[in-house]
Amino acid sequence: MALRIAIPNKGRLNERTVELLIKSGLELDENWGRKLFLKIEKQDIEILFVRAQDIPEFVNSGSVDIGVTGEDQVAESGFKPEILLKLGFGFCRLVVAAPEKSKIKSIKSISNGTIIATSFPNITKKYFEKNKKKVEIINVSGAAEIMPYMGVSDIIVDLVSTGSTLKTNRLAEIATIMNSEAVIIGNKKSVKAKKEKIEEIVSAIESVLYAETKLFIVADVPSKKMGQINKLFPGVAGPTVIEISQSKDMVAIQVVIDKDKVYESVNSLRKLGAKGILTLQMERLVP
Ligand code: AMP
Repeated sequence: MALRIAIPNKGRLNERTVELLIKSGLELDENWGRKLFLKIEKQDIEILFVRAQDIPEFVNSGSVDIGVTGEDQVAESGFKPEILLKLGFGFCRLVVAAPEKSKIKSIKSISNGTIIATSFPNITKKYFEKNKKKVEIINVSGAAEIMPYMGVSDIIVDLVSTGSTLKTNRLAEIATIMNSEAVIIGNKKSVKAKKEKIEEIVSAIESVLYAETKLFIVADVPSKKMGQINKLFPGVAGPTVIEISQSKDMVAIQVVIDKDKVYESVNSLRKLGAKGILTLQMERLVP
């Protein structure tokens, strides 16, 4: 049986999800953007393009085996799928925000009967129940930010990443309900029944994410400086050292470094007399 994967068909999570799948080695043909359904014969995988907010439901019912969506959507759905991998993008926070001019400055100062507009009614209900506030929730499918201005609600619960939309709408954050990022979720039965196939795709994506944080360095270095060079790269095994056939004094090294250390690493190597320093981006890295 083919492995069925649901991914967001548009919106903030779509592009990066497709990019990760392609980098992982799935052959999505160039027409993927216009399709709702894609069969990848070679790997026996079916991809369904659906709305991010519907994905927890599809995974829960077993209509798909795994899916990519936001943790906010998983929480709102109320389902408890397996979280197979956090994907490191789509970061946002679900916050309570009130008009800057409002007297409401904290959860404590919210009085019973306050009207809240949100597209996350379930999370909002639970949150205010936990905080022992009797509020009225109005379910909107988008543009919650303008609801106080329109007189529809007193405050809102909405997603924020930079905070600029709130500012533009003269709203101030008063509490964070949850943090969210994109995740791969799995149907509990599928995770058992299709264990191997699911592990293959999850570890492929994991290796792409890991490779993106690293760089591969190749350089020719003076052999007598190897002591200092080993100290520069104190990883588990240190650099790989290769003989250069035409040279007695130089050896070639290969080493994987954290991307954010590339400036220091290249400069240090240069100062130790390295030549032909090459930094390469890797596609996948399985540690
Ligand atoms: P979409 O509605 O398809 O654009 O997808 C929305 C999903 O993108 C949300 O459920 C979040 O998981 C994620 N996301 C990340 N940052 C934001 C943001 N600033 N506003 C809304 N959604 C965000």
